[in-house]
Amino acid sequence: MHHIAIIGSGPAGYYTAEAAQKQWGDDVRVDIFDCLPVPYGLIRTGVAPDHQSIKGVSKRYEAVALSENVRFIGNVMIGRDVSIAELQELYDAVVLATGAPHDKKLGLPGEDLQNVHGSAAFVGWYNGHPQFAALDPDLGGNTAVVIGNGNVALDVARILAKTRAEFAGADIVAHALDMLDTSKLSRIVILGRRGPHQIAMTPKELGELTHLSRACPRVDPADLPAEEEDAFLEPGQRKSVTHLRSFAAIPESHRDDKPIDIEFDFFAAPRAILGESRVEGVEVERTELKDGRAVGTGETYTIPASLVVACIGYQTSPIPGVPFDEAAGRFANDEGRILDGLYCVGWARRGPSGTIGTNRPDGFGVVEKIAEDAASGVIAQGSGGGPAGFDKLAAQRGLKVVEFHDWKKIEEAEVARARDDAPREKFVSVDHMIEAAGKA
Ligand SMILES: Cc1cc2nc3c(=O)[nH]c(=O)nc-3n(C[C@H](O)[C@H](O)[C@H](O)COP(=O)(O)OP(=O)(O)OC[C@H]3O[C@@H](n4cnc5c(N)ncnc54)[C@H](O)[C@@H]3O)c2cc1C
Repeated sequence: MHHIAIIGSGPAGYYTAEAAQKQWGDDVRVDIFDCLPVPYGLIRTGVAPDHQSIKGVSKRYEAVALSENVRFIGNVMIGRDVSIAELQELYDAVVLATGAPHDKKLGLPGEDLQNVHGSAAFVGWYNGHPQFAALDPDLGGNTAVVIGNGNVALDVARILAKTRAEFAGADIVAHALDMLDTSKLSRIVILGRRGPHQIAMTPKELGELTHLSRACPRVDPADLPAEEEDAFLEPGQRKSVTHLRSFAAIPESHRDDKPIDIEFDFFAAPRAILGESRVEGVEVERTELKDGRAVGTGETYTIPASLVVACIGYQTSPIPGVPFDEAAGRFANDEGRILDGLYCVGWARRGPSGTIGTNRPDGFGVVEKIAEDAASGVIAQGSGGGPAGFDKLAAQRGLKVVEFHDWKKIEEAEVARARDDAPREKFVSVDHMIEAAGKA
């Protein structure tokens, strides 16, 4: 019997479990750990609350979770409640699928001023991640600056712009919905160091900006490259740029009944966040492209702003005893191998890029490596105590483990307390989750 511990119940964790089942069938036992009492990682706490169809992928993970040989072990933080060394004693292979939950720093003066948030925190706040539930961003000013030119920046801008009615069907948490109701924002500036051809925004997400009831996107036609240059872009990127061209062509008259501008400020690198104790503005330097890189021109200007959300990427949390690549912000690994019997997968392996589906080949790839290492004798098979050994350890430590059937109780309670137009109202504190699981 193979005993595998997977740390992290996001897409990478569940695809790895699925791959292990395909590889060894009934001859494997998989325990999937998560520090939260609820599964699915960023599917629950990252993917936008108004993109419910994308969150539907969790049904596939549920099918894996319900199999006989896979267990969910929630509410256990590896590195705090149980060490990696202890897991390595118990399981043949330990796979880190812990994602990249921390915001990268901007590295700019003033980034610690009040109301400057990273997207992990801001997105976690509106998606009910217990760590960020108390963020309490101030939406009382008229301008927000969103830094970054990827889909997360678009998610943040769209969420800031939507009305309560536009969240029908979404599982945005009540505290965020109530706070958004108080918003006085009339200008949301999306800053990108490079130009329209360099965005990492997909057509669907850009297209959504044209259907907002009180907001309208704005692009300065002068920022757009000559139209014939679009022919050199790959088809998806060309579609995205076509959206930007259509935003640039929106007549002023069309904006009359749209009080919020979502303004794309291209060739614009933030240089400092300004303010005394709270953010009051962003100093920006105009850039130009040289060999595809944004180079400052020396021309600067200030955008007065009361809220900044930096959507510039994430990094993995180090775990004691696990080699870490500081420069890359993820575990040091060779195609998923960290040390004998210790592996990583998903964002913890390759950094924060790609879609949910990108994690599937990753999961299958790491299981191939484990199988190779088992065949060559690098790792022993079934020599530790496995899942039964973990149960003993958890009992000794008095850990309040939340298993999959406990999570289903939490889910049921979240559905039962949902607003009329929402699929669920998430619990935003670990204590309330544990209580709903009947484990208090
Ligand atoms: C804001 C945002 C929106 C996105 N929207 C989309 C989208 O619309 N479509 C799309 O295709 N992709 C989207 N993505 C990307 C997608 O979410 C990722 O590709 C995917 O979630 C990465 O999977 P993962 O399993 O590596 O990490 P995660 O999903 O982050 O899962 C990691 C898990 O590990 C757990 N964990 C961490 N540390 C520990 C520890 N020490 N002990 C125990 N457990 C631990 C965490 O609680 C978490 O559950 C989005 C990403 C973000 C940030």
